[in-house]
Amino acid sequence: MAGKKSASRSRAPWYKNGLRFECTQCGACCSGEPGFVWVDEDEISGMAAAMNLSIDQFESKFIRRVGAQKSLMEYPDGDCILLDPENRTCLVYQARPVQCRTWPFWDSTLESKTAWKETCEECPGAGNGKLYSLAEIEVQRKEKSV
Ligand code: SF4
Ligand code: SF4
Repeated sequence: MAGKKSASRSRAPWYKNGLRFECTQCGACCSGEPGFVWVDEDEISGMAAAMNLSIDQFESKFIRRVGAQKSLMEYPDGDCILLDPENRTCLVYQARPVQCRTWPFWDSTLESKTAWKETCEECPGAGNGKLYSLAEIEVQRKEKSV
């Protein structure tokens, strides 16, 4: 079992030559279908500081508990609570959670060429712009598995 696992890991992934990504700031990944942006205590602390709020103030305005985990709240239409409704930009961009910072290089989007193609259809920045090397992609993919 262990040998089988390491053999598959040693094969170069399908994106070995890198992938392109450059965010157009369209805001699509911060809105749409309801979902979860998981956050930990360090991320909450960083976002609170970025908004000049105490951790308690930030949590009461923007955080919901989901079982043992915490996620950002959403507006009823599915927009992230931290997406500025007028200019459609992130209110905590420099301190945004790892889940947001590592998009679109997640386990789920890199699982197969088909998954990446679907990602490119959802996200106009994926597949365009700056070429990320395999090493750069892997750093982001391993930072948070989604
Ligand atoms: S959907 Fe893609 S291009 Fe649009 S804001 Fe999100 S990451 Fe950027
Ligand atoms: S925290 Fe910012 S980048 Fe992340 S989903 Fe919300 S608005 Fe988008």
